[in-house]
Amino acid sequence: MNSSPIDEIKARLDIVDVISSYLNLKKAGSNYRALCPFHSEKNPSFFVSPRLQIFKCFGCGAAGDIFKFIMMIEGVEFKDALKILAQRAGVELKPISPKEKTERQRLWEICELSTKFFEKQMEGKMGQKVKKYLISRGIKEDSIKEWRIGWAPDTQNSLISFLVSKGYKREEIKKAGLAFQKENGQFIDFFRGRIIFPIFDLNSQVIAFSGRIFETKEGPKYINSPNTILYDKSKVLYGLDRAKVEIRKRDFCILVEGYTDVILAHQEGFKNTVSVSGTSLTPFQLAILRRYTKNLYLSFDMDVAGASATKRGINLARLKGFNIKVLILPEEKDPADVISKNPKDFEKILENSLSIMDFYFQRIFSKYDKNTLEGKKEIAKNLLEEIKRIQNEIEKSFWISKLAEELKVREEDLRMELAKIKIEEEELGLEEQEISKQPQKSRKEILEERLLLLVLKSPQNLNLIDKEKFASFSPELKEIFENLKKDFNIKLEKLSEKARDLYTSSALKSEIEEIEKEKIEPEINFCLKEIYKIYLKEKLNQISEELKEAERKKDFPKVEKLSKEFSQLSKKLSLK
Ligand SMILES: [Zn+2]
Repeated sequence: MNSSPIDEIKARLDIVDVISSYLNLKKAGSNYRALCPFHSEKNPSFFVSPRLQIFKCFGCGAAGDIFKFIMMIEGVEFKDALKILAQRAGVELKPISPKEKTERQRLWEICELSTKFFEKQMEGKMGQKVKKYLISRGIKEDSIKEWRIGWAPDTQNSLISFLVSKGYKREEIKKAGLAFQKENGQFIDFFRGRIIFPIFDLNSQVIAFSGRIFETKEGPKYINSPNTILYDKSKVLYGLDRAKVEIRKRDFCILVEGYTDVILAHQEGFKNTVSVSGTSLTPFQLAILRRYTKNLYLSFDMDVAGASATKRGINLARLKGFNIKVLILPEEKDPADVISKNPKDFEKILENSLSIMDFYFQRIFSKYDKNTLEGKKEIAKNLLEEIKRIQNEIEKSFWISKLAEELKVREEDLRMELAKIKIEEEELGLEEQEISKQPQKSRKEILEERLLLLVLKSPQNLNLIDKEKFASFSPELKEIFENLKKDFNIKLEKLSEKARDLYTSSALKSEIEEIEKEKIEPEINFCLKEIYKIYLKEKLNQISEELKEAERKKDFPKVEKLSKEFSQLSKKLSLK
């Protein structure tokens, strides 16, 4: 059989599996539902149908098959979505000629080849030293392989030469973030003499790198690839590709700061760990995490966090309704130290984590003297600011009364002070934009969607549609019914884009909605009649326009012909 790669991918991948690697899907009857990743909402209106192999959001209208989903969620073109899914399905795509490749694809290839290049260097003399060092930090050889850690030799352009020999241009290598150009025009390797940690996207494809200094004292400890068309550091969470399933399973995510923290945590079984590669959590990263859980465990250095941008990320997460817990690590230790010494200690630290409010209470109360007036004022000011960020009113009340009790002041006074506090606009302004609402549907569109839904529920009613009624349909609906008559199991890719949208929407609604059997036929007839009426009215409008035109041109034969048509149609309309 000679099937297309698209058919083959669809046959091998189930839409529920594909989507659930991004979203937290819950079973709802024979379908699944989730919070829509494409617009912000509180109640899930995003549906996935395993039978139809489609998704649809009744909030923003996003709909389609697995390819459409990947295009939307990864923000890629069709060709790239095809590549991502082919890889996942283990379907081999026939090699595309270099001209046909998208720029993204070439950059992906550059990143992949570079990763292999860096990995290969681990076999050399310096590489062996690096390996020894990593192992001394507790990272096992298997983890080095799994996370594809490598070595960038301390030379001017060994990576560039390698890539050029493979047919890539220096300009492209620069675009992939792996080279920079000196003023004299010369291209230099971006990473030189550094331990390389590849950075992966959600599908474990390498999109960027981080290089850690080794055996020299020059330059910053870590340098990261610049932003490229593949990589935006504000959008990536290191380790999420490997952590996402576990985060959903355990319903919490451990956030750490460094690459080695993530690798060690995974190695020792804390596979729901990711790290932020900048300093602060961005709205985008939070939106991604929100797909998997709303429980975050932070293991940041909270004293640094207090003043830095990290605090802004934490505040934002709280405003977005995440439950936040803080891991209390022994002094001057980071998670990597604790885990490499004894993973069980880290387990205990997880168990003993504090809610963020408990953490703030402990910290602020240890900083000021609650028995002096000045101390009381400082404590109240600091903690009320945190209380203000609590989204739940009951929780808010709880902390206010706790604070009143500890400070021995009246709750009402604290409430008055609370009212005075304003949260920086900046924080609130960081909200991601709501995706614009769907364009309003016309009455005819609504009726057609309903008609299709009803027919899909009861194929035997397909014969209620006669030729005359059929003529009144929109081209999309005609297309769908023509296909349905041939085969009731429509292949989505055979439909035009407009028809596909209409079909997915109606088909999913028909799966979700329960309708009493005996009500279906009368409702179909109603829809048919109403659609036909709208069609006649549109036709009449059109004829009367043409009539005016013909009268202006004094084309009397045409006027007569049109007038006849007009009165016939009017009669039909009045009969309805
Ligand atoms: Zn939506």
